[in-house]
Amino acid sequence: MPLHRGDSEAPDDEGGRRRLAVNPFHGEANPVGGMTEAPPRHRLPDAPLPPSTAYQLVHDELMLDGNSRLNLATFVTTWMEPQAGVLMAECRDKNMIDKDEYPRTAELEKRCVAMLADLWHAPDPAAAVGCSTTGSSEACMLAGMALKRRWARGNADRYPSRDARPNLVMGVNVQVCWEKFCNFWEVEARQVPMEGDRFHLDPQAAAELCDENTIGVVGILGSTFDGSYEPIADLCAALDALQERTGLDVPVHVDGASGAMVAPFLDEDLVWDFRLPRVASINTSGHKYGLVYPGVGWALWRDREALPEELVFRVNYLGGDMPTFALNFSRPGAQVVAQYYSFLRLGREGYRAVQQAARDVAGKVAEAVAELGDFRLLTRGDQLPVFAFTTAPDVRAYDVFDVSRRLRESGWLVPAYTFPPHREDLSVLRVVCRNGFSADLAELFVEDLGRLLPELRRQPHPFTRDKEAATGFHH
Ligand SMILES: *Cc1c(COP(=O)(O)O)cnc(C)c1O
Repeated sequence: MPLHRGDSEAPDDEGGRRRLAVNPFHGEANPVGGMTEAPPRHRLPDAPLPPSTAYQLVHDELMLDGNSRLNLATFVTTWMEPQAGVLMAECRDKNMIDKDEYPRTAELEKRCVAMLADLWHAPDPAAAVGCSTTGSSEACMLAGMALKRRWARGNADRYPSRDARPNLVMGVNVQVCWEKFCNFWEVEARQVPMEGDRFHLDPQAAAELCDENTIGVVGILGSTFDGSYEPIADLCAALDALQERTGLDVPVHVDGASGAMVAPFLDEDLVWDFRLPRVASINTSGHKYGLVYPGVGWALWRDREALPEELVFRVNYLGGDMPTFALNFSRPGAQVVAQYYSFLRLGREGYRAVQQAARDVAGKVAEAVAELGDFRLLTRGDQLPVFAFTTAPDVRAYDVFDVSRRLRESGWLVPAYTFPPHREDLSVLRVVCRNGFSADLAELFVEDLGRLLPELRRQPHPFTRDKEAATGFHH
């Protein structure tokens, strides 16, 4: 959540009373005797409003939000079948933590964990442990905590009594949740920089950053910067070699926020999951390529050893107790139910078809963008259905920030952002293709982009001054 400032002094509030004017229709049946005063916006109104009026006021304000289906910045699901919406509405009053009161919802969560354990090749799916979360961020916090606790247990002679400071190794391209984890849990973030045309982690460089205080290495299946898969198997091999050389046994966590729901269906030969003994845990966002509306993620550990028992909290469940692991207590059950719906509805073949369609669209749009002639592709959408591109070297009249801004005129939200250290010279646009961004919509997108070019080329120079504010984009 953004941290909002209370804003009771807002000038338009005139001490909390706004004179003027809402639509007189918003009053009761007779518009002549209707509302003359709008309710205050920054303090609780004194009196209630009729529900239809309150609805209309909130609804009207929200019209100014962007259209989520045209939001090519987000990885998060923006379309589900109506039946999923109905199920979610039926479950919006169920609290996920009340396992005893809602045992069937709890059972569906368990089944989802079992399905994911099987999908990700847990050596013994019955021994794998896992839980739903609010998203990958919470799942990453939990996985990071487990890594830290395992390391602390093994280094009780040096931590916390002595000065040992735990560290976590990752590529500089990690999603911000890992920086948060390191900040919140007081772990040093050791980041492998980008180099040349390598926009994600290098296995060898990662292994070299490890020492006796390394709690783990994070590999990302599907970098948010460019949609590329990090080489998880090579990372494990580099850490195997490290162990042979030094005895250090460093576990790997795979942040599969997007890719853990793409690779199992489209890249079956890619070995990135629990088939690699060094992979201790995996997370995914159910609300990204898991195809559920926002609010669900998953964290799985390969076995009970990977998740220290003392982190597990027990809640009442049918007279016994059920282990849970979460940062939140109360949480909606609807998203978990919707996840189970999607698993049941699509099955492996369905997921394959949906993800293949998204990847096909990504490949086609990437190609079409390249054909426009003004752009250079960094990735082509052949791993995650996501591609990043920048302006060609001879394009000087405009930059990616101009493109992002101008695309908004036709409703498309496409983020432009600068790469991290070592490649700060590089600014890109990124397009995330999701279910619901159909081939037809994709064609319209390319047409809109093409139509902008003549005008952009006529600019005397790039216009965007404040690049941070241009898109306010934080992956
Ligand atoms: C989206 C993403 C996250 C954060 O996930 P949320 O579900 O948005 O909390 C973490 N890591 C990666 C690689 C991501 O793509």
